[in-house]
Amino acid sequence: MTPAQRLRQVANLLNGSTVLGLLLARFAGCNVCKGPHGLVIATSYRPRLPVAGAFAVGNVVLFRSDAGQVWGNPVLLEHEERHCTQYAWCLGLPFLPLYFLAAGWSFLRTGSAGSANIFERMAGLEAGGYVESHGYRLAGNRSLTKNRHRINHIGTPRRTGAARKQPGQEEK
Ligand SMILES: [Zn+2]
Repeated sequence: MTPAQRLRQVANLLNGSTVLGLLLARFAGCNVCKGPHGLVIATSYRPRLPVAGAFAVGNVVLFRSDAGQVWGNPVLLEHEERHCTQYAWCLGLPFLPLYFLAAGWSFLRTGSAGSANIFERMAGLEAGGYVESHGYRLAGNRSLTKNRHRINHIGTPRRTGAARKQPGQEEK
């Protein structure tokens, strides 16, 4: 580990972001192992949100895929490692609101949450699976609509069996 990687590890431990990442990995039932450069790798992340194949919280990098696929994609791991460094520069959890602001700004400008997002650009757009976009794109809008629908669906109240039962319908 280089002195800079050690410093990032200590900074993200002290600012609480790595602890949050470890808790998230634990509650999501991920498999956790030591990664390179002081990182922690959590695989088989299953919850719906965030809508991403991989994401970083402090020095913890969480992947939807299993360990075999993670080690087979060092480019994505390097991209996520740069986000870990960004956490340290942002003093930990302030990274999250700053990132969402940058993503919103990027979406308004380009129709993509990543293309003009300074955090994604500094981490490497292509490595993170983003495509350079210079204008508003319908494809980005469509995916947002789909996600919004999913979120609304979770909040839709479900009818209970008692509510559906009509008067006079008694169980035998
Ligand atoms: Zn990224």
